[in-house]
Amino acid sequence: MNSKENIFQKILSKKVITDIIYQDNLVTAFNDINPQSPVHILIIPNILIKTLNDINNNHEFILGRMLLVASKIAKKKHINKLGYRIVINCNVHGCQTIFHLHMHLLGGRQGIKNFF
Ligand code: 5GP
Repeated sequence: MNSKENIFQKILSKKVITDIIYQDNLVTAFNDINPQSPVHILIIPNILIKTLNDINNNHEFILGRMLLVASKIAKKKHINKLGYRIVINCNVHGCQTIFHLHMHLLGGRQGIKNFF
């Protein structure tokens, strides 16, 4: 096992087993291990992009796919009508802890208005 791999890379390479909710050629989605709401799903690119600071024009399609998949999963989980929150944490002030770009899909209960 390459110890330099982050936990999400290990999930992608199946070195760490996690229930994959959705996967295609560009992105993968799975439940957060420490859910902050009844539905808390992470959507990640299949390639390593460390933070939102590291995106470039070549990633446009991946980023679009992440949002598209979030919207589809929200419908599948029946949280779309009441709504949900999409969060991307970036670096220290953004409280990012895993340095593999990921989108949080949070829903299933009323959120709080101010969170920063
Ligand atoms: P961040 O704070 O970087 O935006 O979010 C990282 C998220 O990854 C956290 O919500 C945390 O609970 C989740 N996480 C950390 N380790 C694992 C893991 O091994 N498996 C899963 N499914 N989620 C993880």
